[in-house]
Amino acid sequence: MSLELEGVARRYGDVRAVDGVDLVVARGRTTALLGPSGCGKSTLLRLVAGLEAPDAGTIRLDGRDLAPVPPQRRGVGMVFQDYALFPHLDVAGNVAFGLVEQRWPKERRAARVAELLEAVGLHGLERRRPHELSGGQQQRVALARALAPRPSLLLLDEPLSNLDRTLRDELTAELATLLSDLDVQAIHVTHDQNEAFALADRVAVMRDGRIVQEDTPEALIDAPRDAWTARFLGLRELIPATAARTLGFAGPTLLRVERLRPDPDGHRFEVRSRHVVGSDLEFVLTSPDWNLDLRWRARPRELAEIPTAGDELRLRVPDDAWTVLEVQG
Ligand code: ADP
Repeated sequence: MSLELEGVARRYGDVRAVDGVDLVVARGRTTALLGPSGCGKSTLLRLVAGLEAPDAGTIRLDGRDLAPVPPQRRGVGMVFQDYALFPHLDVAGNVAFGLVEQRWPKERRAARVAELLEAVGLHGLERRRPHELSGGQQQRVALARALAPRPSLLLLDEPLSNLDRTLRDELTAELATLLSDLDVQAIHVTHDQNEAFALADRVAVMRDGRIVQEDTPEALIDAPRDAWTARFLGLRELIPATAARTLGFAGPTLLRVERLRPDPDGHRFEVRSRHVVGSDLEFVLTSPDWNLDLRWRARPRELAEIPTAGDELRLRVPDDAWTVLEVQG
């Protein structure tokens, strides 16, 4: 399965929810669509699912233009943020829903439902109604329902956002395993960078209706396109453009703190605070010359003396510790 979007746009009144998206999701990849709330992620998913029509642009699945294809014929399964389970149907009825629509014979239907409930760990709960299930269980029913008709593409709209933190971490790992076991290609919408990086092997960063950058998690962290993307990905050690220019850099510049090492002739930092993280020490440092605060970690044995708040700490900053970003953003 490969999905190609070209110039896809959708507005609501004056709001350009999706504003000219070009994106290729290659075969066999889990892609996360990552961006802050309101940037157009759900709208983009609904356009792919056929629940909305684009104002402009084309969406192709395996080379076929989807415009004339109704949602139920697109071979696309969708899991919604609020799960949208049918309250009057039990678990088995919910999972079988798409199969009934597609007129699967009764026996094959029952076998497929059993197989999926087994896969998502809900065997034995066939007769429960949605309101008799926990949030995590409802989420699994929604997933099983979307997967039942063997979609060639699964769309997940913030499927974990209604769950508490612990359950979310657990289900993130579970979902990653399940998608790879079942060999389903998925697009996963989230505003949570950790979730995106844990689940996806490609990440498309979205802002204001557009895709800003699409790459592997490693490449995004290594070379975010601009300051906004860097900050959104949680890279905090960023020198803004104006300050960076005084240091001779052409644009906002990231400092890779993990590349700094103690050196008596190095750059002068002041220690703001120090605390223990596992077997490391973490220092909050400030560079008066660069007007930059940063967190830096070291093994205690790397340091001749262990500095404390108010002390000076000198670190060598190699050339490859700087990444200069594009000016806009
Ligand atoms: P996200 O999923 O990234 O949070 P959405 O796709 O839900 O973003 O929304 C993108 C923008 O489009 C927002 O400004 C939102 O208010 C607007 N929007 C989405 N759906 C509708 C709608 N049905 N009617 C009017 N505005 C909408």
